[in-house]
Amino acid sequence: MSHAAFADSVHVRAPGKINVFLGVGGRHDDGYHALATVFQAVSLYEDVIARPADDFSVTVSGVEDIESVPLDDRNLAMRAAKLLAVAVDHPGGVALEIRKSVPVAGGMGGGSADAAAALVACDALWGTGLSQARLHDLAARLGADVPFALHGGTAVGTGRGDQLNPALARGRFDWILVPSEQGLSTPVVYERLDLLREDEGALADDPQQSLDVPIPVLQALRSGDPAQLADTLFNDLQAAALYERPDLAETISLGVAAGALQGIVSGSGPTIALLCPDPETAQDVQSSLRENGLDPLHVHGPVPGARIIG
Ligand code: ATP
Repeated sequence: MSHAAFADSVHVRAPGKINVFLGVGGRHDDGYHALATVFQAVSLYEDVIARPADDFSVTVSGVEDIESVPLDDRNLAMRAAKLLAVAVDHPGGVALEIRKSVPVAGGMGGGSADAAAALVACDALWGTGLSQARLHDLAARLGADVPFALHGGTAVGTGRGDQLNPALARGRFDWILVPSEQGLSTPVVYERLDLLREDEGALADDPQQSLDVPIPVLQALRSGDPAQLADTLFNDLQAAALYERPDLAETISLGVAAGALQGIVSGSGPTIALLCPDPETAQDVQSSLRENGLDPLHVHGPVPGARIIG
């Protein structure tokens, strides 16, 4: 099927992400913190269907807490469509249908995946045929995590997280994700990190301070060995997320006791990501967490970025 202009609809799927490493530096004047991170796209997807319309509109269905997703210009997918329309001088609008699977405000970049999917969907629907480089530029203007949702796979992000370089990753990593009913606000977690650091008198807020992804993280990804990767999982936001949600430490302990190699707060949380040695152990961990009243999901990574599926 051709996706040139005048298609009836375009269906795009984009993945949520885990940060297998997240180093946070000082705060820039624009409020953003310097980051050095490794993203991995995982098999939990957002579906966005774009249909021709005179105006711009968005509907959302899927996960819990759907009512907290805005349906106006604050919606990242809507903003993506409008940004593309201005960039390419598209005269009409678009009706976007978002089917969410990524938890809202879960630290897995669900809104960013919606934005990346909307860019790809509208580009195809309107037949604008932008290059990957131009799509990447528009994505970066929408949010620091949006370029990665376009890109997918495993990648190193620097700057605000939006300057991407692919990382070699062999094989497949099995993760158990434990979403929370209540989301955590990303700005609140960063503010908490700043306060904790002030208290410790640690890390001056020097945005120029150099931040790097440690070589062992990249080696572990290249090896494809989950045990090696488990030893290098790290998140500078974890202490701040656990401060806001102390119960999450218990979720990590339960997962590790059930056979996971290691657990980590995903991004700004509150989703917990537990790295498992193989798919069978992941199923055991999932069953055990279910018995504890949690609602775990079994996913794997890396998977591709935003792509047209229909
Ligand atoms: P971040 O990318 O900042 O780490 P997150 O992954 O924790 O965010 P998201 O689900 O992407 O969380 O969204 C965080 C907030 O952004 C939501 O609470 C909501 O108010 C707003 N938002 C805007 N557009 C969307 C969208 N399409 N889907 C979900 N939330 C959205």
